[in-house]
Amino acid sequence: MSGTTDPRKRGLTVEIDPARCIANAKCTVAAPGIYVLDEETGVAVLEHEDEATLEQLFAGARACPTQAITIHQLGRRVFPQILTPMFGEKDEA
Ligand code: SF4
Repeated sequence: MSGTTDPRKRGLTVEIDPARCIANAKCTVAAPGIYVLDEETGVAVLEHEDEATLEQLFAGARACPTQAITIHQLGRRVFPQILTPMFGEKDEA
């Protein structure tokens, strides 16, 4: 397997939710050849994930207006980021 050995990609998984994809091809423009529109289904799919750089994977995910692309690393969601609520939190010092 020829792939990038970028250690930052360790444990990284990219998922595209076909139900959220509106096929506007933004991700395919942001990372051509990595995100591509499937000819049969019309929705975005990931290709050459092993060769993709971290930047390409995130660029495609950021370009998606419906947040159909989520990225996890070692089981934690890293994109889109989950925001910490601004309320209801107490410092228990
Ligand atoms: S940017 Fe999002 S909605 Fe557009 S084709 Fe890619 S995954 Fe689908």
